[in-house]
Amino acid sequence: MSEYVLKGVPAAPGIAIGSAYIVDKQDIVVPPRAILEKEIPIEIARFEEALYKTREQLLALKRKITDEIGEQHAQIFDAHLMVLEDRMLTEDVVKKIRQDKQSAEYVFSNIFKKYIKVFSNMEDEYLRERSSDVNDIARRVLKNLVDESKFMHELENLTEELIIIAHDLSPSDTASMFNKNVLAFATDIGGRTSHTAIMAKSLGVPAVVGLKDATLRISNQDLVIVDGRMGLVIVHPNDKTLSLYRAEKERINSMRNRFDDIKDLPAETTDGRKVEVLANLELPEEIPMILSRGASGIGLYRTEYFYMNRVDLPNEEEQFAAYKKVVEAMAPHSVTIRTLDLGGDKFISSLQIPRDMYPFLGWRALKFCLERPDIFKTQLRAILRASYYGKMRMMYPMVSGPAEFRSVNEILDSVKKNLREEEIPFDENIEVGAMIEVPSAAMTADLLAKEAKFFSIGTNDLIQYTLAIDRVNEQTAAFYEPCHPAVLRLIQRTVQAGHEKNIKVALCGEMSSEPIYTLLLLGLGLDEFSMSPGNILQIKKLIRSVSFQDAKELAEKALELTTGQEVEDLCRRRLQELAPNIINNEGV
Ligand code: PEP
Ligand code: MG
Repeated sequence: MSEYVLKGVPAAPGIAIGSAYIVDKQDIVVPPRAILEKEIPIEIARFEEALYKTREQLLALKRKITDEIGEQHAQIFDAHLMVLEDRMLTEDVVKKIRQDKQSAEYVFSNIFKKYIKVFSNMEDEYLRERSSDVNDIARRVLKNLVDESKFMHELENLTEELIIIAHDLSPSDTASMFNKNVLAFATDIGGRTSHTAIMAKSLGVPAVVGLKDATLRISNQDLVIVDGRMGLVIVHPNDKTLSLYRAEKERINSMRNRFDDIKDLPAETTDGRKVEVLANLELPEEIPMILSRGASGIGLYRTEYFYMNRVDLPNEEEQFAAYKKVVEAMAPHSVTIRTLDLGGDKFISSLQIPRDMYPFLGWRALKFCLERPDIFKTQLRAILRASYYGKMRMMYPMVSGPAEFRSVNEILDSVKKNLREEEIPFDENIEVGAMIEVPSAAMTADLLAKEAKFFSIGTNDLIQYTLAIDRVNEQTAAFYEPCHPAVLRLIQRTVQAGHEKNIKVALCGEMSSEPIYTLLLLGLGLDEFSMSPGNILQIKKLIRSVSFQDAKELAEKALELTTGQEVEDLCRRRLQELAPNIINNEGV
């Protein structure tokens, strides 16, 4: 078989070489197998045995996930158990085995297909979404009825090291890959700041997204190379390619700890400009790794992952316990917690809201929280209570301008008032900031700066809303330009507005993690860089190797250029000149 290369969007750096595993959601095909009258009881017993086994496996899995990652990640299995316990379904299967004299697996798969069809055609979006749960269950039961190798390979039980190839991975799929034998992943859809890319970085595995048809062009067990830096997936690599990549992988591995010596040093330029290098946090399990990288705190704690992978909403106590654990683990460093940013590709099934109500321009983030103060207040109470146990700041996502910021603060004030009345302690001085990720917020940054205690620029969204480029759409991924002159001007404007009012301006979008932009962002005057933990040491090293003066000059020049490409070229050139040792090794 000859080698071929698929080109996608680089999503998380690194190289992986291994066997492909296709996570598909396609129909289950079970051939008919007629049985004799006397075999009917045997088939029914096999079916019941398979149901029992599946139930045991699900319970064991639920326990395992609860122990390893926490209860909230395991609650998805409750929904699966409920499907399994549906008496109508089991009675239907038994009746049909008797009537049609067909094997248990054949009858079961046909009945399940009908179930899945009914679910997928439901008007209610939430129920429609449940068809994938029903599909998962069907595969589990079938695995217990027939030769295991024919069916779904469970991500949770991966024993081999595999490269996951999927059309798309849901936030719950990626969250369940934590600490698993996943070498890398590659998906048909997605852009460089989609949740798949963000999770890959936090899991520390290479990823390529937006490959369009990888699931059709790669087969199970194909040998593949995932090159997360260049956005390539090489299928059936020949010996020459393999040895080149093996050597490259070795080289990257040997470089892994090369900046460890600066872990405890400040992120300070050669001429004395000090900034903070912080980590973005998706799952609390990442904290030991974050601390080992010398982050000076958490600059963005994305709380929506807490709401995923479960059939209900997290209550106040659960959230309080989780947030408290994070602030305590990070002490004495500070944790910037972001309030719920539901919407776009952060989809929360337990809310039972039709999915088409919250696309990127729909009912997202604050627009949702303002309408659902019941859900929002629960989170605010949990956050405020946790603030008492460490150093915490709080910020709102997707603020559109001062009026919205004020409305949310009114809710916050009422929550604070209640806590005071109940004599529940919280940090009375907790700072509340605004994320600047909507162009209208950047344009009104001068007004917002009078009310917010800090800004954090979310470039992942700021770029998509400024350029009208959906951040997860692989068709438009090439137009997603972080250095577009409009984006740079909005960043510059935000920094200036913040500094005029003496407030700190952070940047927590993926742009922060990419060394090619570090000089430019430094020169634009950012005070804090919050990023995927894997990039912290390299970015800190870079900052320590250059002067603020050079960075400012670069930013000035960049602001005169007319295209994003020219700015990228300038950044790359200056980086090569000013810090060749740091970037060459990474192949920026
Ligand atoms: C951003 O938009 O840049 C950001 C950090 O938020 P998220 O990626 O979670 O939308
Ligand atoms: Mg955002």
